[in-house]
Formats: sequence, structure tokens, C-alpha cells
Amino acid sequence: MAPPFLPYGRQTIEDDDIAAVAAALRDDLLTTGPRVEAFEMAFADAVGAEHAVACANGTAALHLTMLALGVREGDVCIVPSTTFLATANCVRYVGAEVVFADVDPDSGLMRPDDLAQALSEAGPKSVAAVLPVHMRGDVADLPAIASLAESAGAVVVEDACHALGSALRHEGADALVGSGRWSSASTFSFHPVKTIATGEGGMITTPDAGLAERLRRLRSHGMVRPPGGDPWWYEMAEPGFNYRLPDILCALGQAQLAKLPRFAAARRALLARYLEALASLAPAVRPAASPPNSQATPHLMCVLIDFPALGVTRREAMEALKARGVGSQVHYIPVHSQPYYQARYGEKRLPGAEAWYDRTLSLPLYPGMDMADVDRVVSALGEVLGLA
Ligand SMILES: *Cc1c(COP(=O)(O)O)cnc(C)c1O
Repeated sequence: MAPPFLPYGRQTIEDDDIAAVAAALRDDLLTTGPRVEAFEMAFADAVGAEHAVACANGTAALHLTMLALGVREGDVCIVPSTTFLATANCVRYVGAEVVFADVDPDSGLMRPDDLAQALSEAGPKSVAAVLPVHMRGDVADLPAIASLAESAGAVVVEDACHALGSALRHEGADALVGSGRWSSASTFSFHPVKTIATGEGGMITTPDAGLAERLRRLRSHGMVRPPGGDPWWYEMAEPGFNYRLPDILCALGQAQLAKLPRFAAARRALLARYLEALASLAPAVRPAASPPNSQATPHLMCVLIDFPALGVTRREAMEALKARGVGSQVHYIPVHSQPYYQARYGEKRLPGAEAWYDRTLSLPLYPGMDMADVDRVVSALGEVLGLA
């Protein structure tokens, strides 16, 4: 019998996760109930944040953050080109413009020099926010990014959708992603391929109580019920959205979050095995580089391959891997090259993002895998690239 197919990422749902959802379904409140705050408190605790605000998904988390920070038309935000579409699109949702920054061709992360270059391109325009992405779970150089952003009068919003459980080593201590040490807010996603899953789901963490309050208001139509008001009374000072996360999914999120230490350890162990096994395919295949001081909980297992030199196209390699039961994916097509952004901002060359894109391939990585799965993936990769 053929071994089971290994997708590039997938959720790990266990009996207690299912029991938590079943219990939530028997409650009176399926949404806006007590499980929302319980999940938020547990999440804030897990990442060392002051405040956590649950929402519908990671994209809504980014959108709400832009709204709550007051980013608007006339503003500019800096976004690395190597990311998922949502990091850039949230800037457009509020009418601001994106300046794309380049990334390190070997790690996929925006470096301080890339940010400095993008800031100089933005010129005299008002830069409202800088959105570093902790690509693959590796943490960007936040102290340097925050100091550049501050000089430009911009705030930092971390797109931490890949980086739940990651940390940055700084002056001998580890600062967890989401703690807000160098940023105004961090956003997370609970899409099934992410480190914990609720199907759809998101979270924003922030050290700023006022921002958290505004995020909560905007998450639910901009409505407030002033204390002491009539029982039916609510007021709206600015229009918000329905970006709530239901209690059913908060129950799942809390059950998943309790497993974060185990999931993170499994991901780190699998990464370590990959690094060992991939040595046999060097230098034609190299793992993505990790920036110094990044203490990753790895989200994606990206390798860099010089396809033309091997005489195999990426498409051929992916199809041959699939035939061997191994899923793979490409993270990411540079966002600046999307038709919408090209039409809006013209042709732009970002050599780091393009060089990353040309070579990258994401191999299976999720806690349900074991070491033999890693060995199977690496030997299949060697075969399809003609290196075995
Ligand atoms: C997954 C992801 C998002 C969007 O999250 P959704 O929950 O799918 O809306 C945003 N940014 C990055 C980097 C992501 O990986």
C-alpha cells in the first residue's frame, strides 16, 4: 500500500479539540459569549501580551489593526514583497498606499537595509506603518526595524501569522513574538496550515489598552453600549465590521493553544531532522537561511533550489513529488508583481524577493509527521531532482 500523502501543511486535531467544540455547541451562546474572552486571555498569556483581541481570520486582524491605528488615504505603509497578499491588501482596504520592500534572498525576510531603501522611496509621504512579516516562523530584526520606523514617524505592525511561539533573542533574553516589545500590534491566523487551527480565525495582540478597546469596537460594527444606558441602547461613533470569532471556534482555539508547546517542539524536531537529511543534497538544495537571534517555531519548511542548474523545472519537481505522495507549495509569488499592484505602482524590481521566489519550495511540515516522513520527503526530493 502506498504511504499516506503528505501535504505541505495541515492541522492537528485531537479528541479533546473535538470535545471542546462539542461542549461549546451545548452552551447558550454560540457567539459573543464567555469563551471569546477566555481564549483571548489564554492567548495573551501564551505570547506575553498585555491584550489580545480575537477576530474572524488573519486578514481581518490586519484590516482591523489598520483601521484602529487610523491608517488612511494619503498614508503610505511599507510591506515586504515576500508575503501573503493580505499583508499588502489590508493597507489598500483603508485607502493607504503600499511601498514594497525587498527581502533577503536566502531567508525571505525584510532586512533593515531593505526597509531603509523603501523608506527613502516613500520620500516625503507620511509613512504610517511598517509591517514586517516573520516569514516561515523566523523573526525579523525587530529592534533595528523599530528604530528605523520610529525615525520615519511610523508604527510597527508585525504580521506574525507564521510565528506563533517564535521569539527573538535580545540582550541575552528571549522576547516572544506578540509581546509587543517593538511594535504597536501583532496579527495571527488560525487557518488550518498555521501553527494552531480553528478553521478560520485570527488574533491581534497589543501592549496598548486604548488600541485594544478600539479593535474590539471595530470588530463588532463600531457599537458601544454606554454603562447605565437603557437595556436596548447602543451607539455607533464610527462604522465597524462583523469580524467576530464565534465561541465555537474560540473553544477550539483554546484547546489548540494548550498544545502549542508540544506542537512547537514537534516542529523544531522535524526541522532539525530536515537540516540533517538535507545535507546529503547540498549544495544543489539548501534550507532557507535563519537570521541571527531568531528563535523560530518553524511554520514552513522552505528549501532553495537552483532549478535551471539541475535541468528540472519547479513544476516538474512538484508533480514528481506529488506522484511520490509528497505535497509542496511555493511561498510566495512576490506581491509587488501581482497585476493589481503592477497596474497601480508600475513595474518594480525587487531582486531579493525575485531570487527567493525563483528558488523556493515548501516541503511538508506539521506535527502529525514523524522522522521517517522527513526522510521519505528528502529522498523523494533527491530522486526527482536527479541527485539520488
Ligand atoms: C495566513 C496569512 C495571512 C492571512 O490569514 P487568514 O487567516 O488566512 O486570513 C496573512 N499573512 C500571512 C503572512 C499569512 O501567512
